[in-house]
Amino acid sequence: MVALDAAEKVLKNAYNPYSSFYVGAALFTFDGQIVTGTNFENAVYGSTICAERAAVLRANAMGMRCFSGIAMIAQGDNFATTEVTAPCGSCRQVLFEVSQISGNDLIVVLSSTLKDKIIITTIQELLPLGFGPKDLGISISRYQNSGR
Ligand code: ZN
Repeated sequence: MVALDAAEKVLKNAYNPYSSFYVGAALFTFDGQIVTGTNFENAVYGSTICAERAAVLRANAMGMRCFSGIAMIAQGDNFATTEVTAPCGSCRQVLFEVSQISGNDLIVVLSSTLKDKIIITTIQELLPLGFGPKDLGISISRYQNSGR
């Protein structure tokens, strides 16, 4: 899968002096565009940005907010993961927002380091009954501008 390969390609760029855990993510659009991100850690651990959110923020700066899905892959400093790595709670919430902007459930492709285990799911499955703009009575239609 092209997006998963793109996520794998940026793994090495992770800034991870605290965890030594490498995560790569790649958002993909309906027409095949890809925006990648890696984890960017911080000495104040709570200020760390995960790869998935880094990709979303990078895409937003590029004027892209509508996506079909996201692929992600991770590896340890000296080990390959044997199970898939799934988004943390904060990233699930941000990806839910992306799904609301995109107007569709977001495909989420999760892979082990060696791609011998892959789970394809959706943000609705990872975050059922998600809280979003509709819960606040907010229209986000003016942000639905690209990537469809
Ligand atoms: Zn996260």
